[in-house]
Amino acid sequence: MQAGVIAVQGDVAEHAAAVRNAAAAHDEPAEVVEVRDSGIVSDCDVLLLPGGESTTISRLIRREGIDEEIRDHVASGKPVLATCAGLIVCSRDAKDDRVDALELVDVSVDRNAFGRQKDSFEAKLSVAGLDDPFHAVFIRAPLIDEVDGGVETLATVDGRPVAVRDGPVVATAFHPELTADSRIHDLAFFPENEVVA
Ligand code: GLN
Repeated sequence: MQAGVIAVQGDVAEHAAAVRNAAAAHDEPAEVVEVRDSGIVSDCDVLLLPGGESTTISRLIRREGIDEEIRDHVASGKPVLATCAGLIVCSRDAKDDRVDALELVDVSVDRNAFGRQKDSFEAKLSVAGLDDPFHAVFIRAPLIDEVDGGVETLATVDGRPVAVRDGPVVATAFHPELTADSRIHDLAFFPENEVVA
C-alpha cells in the first residue's frame, strides 16, 4: 500500500509512523511518501492530512496544485484520514477566508472555538467501530458545528461531533497520530478487515 502524507506543513512524521503501524497490523506494509509537490497523489492508495496550521496547509496545497489532486483521490473513492487542521481543510466551510475548504467532508467548523475555550485537553472517547475507548489528544482543536446529510458521527465530546466519516474520508478534531494507538488509522484505511493477530 502506498500512503501519501500531505507534508507541506504539520505533524507529518507522526502520521507516517501511525499508518505504518496500522498497515503492519494487517500484514500489508505501507510505503509512505511525503507529498509536497503535485504529481504524487495519483500514485497513492491512501492519503493523510496532518494536524498543523490549516491556513498554511490550505495556501500551500493550493499553490502546488495538490488540492485538486486530493479532490480527485476522494472522487475515485480512495480513503483519506484528516486530523485537526486536516479536518478544517477538508471541511465544507471553515468560516475563514484564508482556508480554501476542499468540501470533502460535509461539515462546517469553527477553527478557533475549542481552542479558545480549552487550549489543549485529552479525553477517553467511545468511537463507533472500536471495542475499547480511544485516548484522544486535542490541541487547539476545531469545533464541528454543523453536520450534514451523509456524514456519520463516529465520536462526540459533550454532544459535539469530534470524529466523522463522509464516504472515504475519516476526519477527527483530535490527533490520533500523537498516541501509539493506530486504531483510528485502521478505521480509516481498513474499515472492513479484521486485524491480523
Ligand atoms: N486550530 C488549528 C488551525 O486552525 C489546528 C490545530 C491543530 O491542527 N492542532 O489550523
